[in-house]
Amino acid sequence: MTTPRKPHVRRQYWNEPTMGWWERSYLLEVARGLAITGGVFLRNMGKWMTGRKGALTAYYPEEIRADYAAGNRGKHILTQRPDGRPQCVACNMCATVCPAQVIEIDAAFDPDDPAHPKYPSRFEIDYSRCVFCGFCVEACPEDAIRMVKETPDLPGFDRDRMWLGKEELLNWQAHADVAKPYPVRPAAEPGRSPDA
Ligand code: SF4
Ligand code: SF4
Repeated sequence: MTTPRKPHVRRQYWNEPTMGWWERSYLLEVARGLAITGGVFLRNMGKWMTGRKGALTAYYPEEIRADYAAGNRGKHILTQRPDGRPQCVACNMCATVCPAQVIEIDAAFDPDDPAHPKYPSRFEIDYSRCVFCGFCVEACPEDAIRMVKETPDLPGFDRDRMWLGKEELLNWQAHADVAKPYPVRPAAEPGRSPDA
């Protein structure tokens, strides 16, 4: 014996649109859509023919937009300690979480700085593969890597140009986290390099 199937009842959503007869008639709405699209096209064409910029298209890379939103995830910066050294402790969490695997870090050891003995001797990002997701920023326990709204100026024919290194990431737009108190680094012994 088969169980009788329940009749299908279409689910009503909370934001279900209500349509008037003119929308249900379909062709009138198609004509209205074409009129809106055609109006925008003709307005942009008129501006273009009279030497004004019509459409919102930016002719990248010749033309770089200046109106990025404040929260745009653009180019990375490495934040600095008050003495200018990187805040990064080379923990590799950003490189581990990066879905595109584009962060490469070489960790080094500074025996003269017991508060921060590990630091990155090399920190590079391959922008040819970065997807600007911001996971690296979220994962960092030290607020050592941030993204600012400016985008990297990278288009070119050579992918090697798209690797940005520690010095540029640290200094192109220097940021320091003034709210984070750091123990004072002990004075280096005479004749010893501070980064030795
Ligand atoms: S923004 Fe995303 S893809 Fe780019 S380096 Fe950070 S984690 Fe990797
Ligand atoms: S930037 Fe942050 S997460 Fe990445 S290695 Fe440095 S301290 Fe760790």
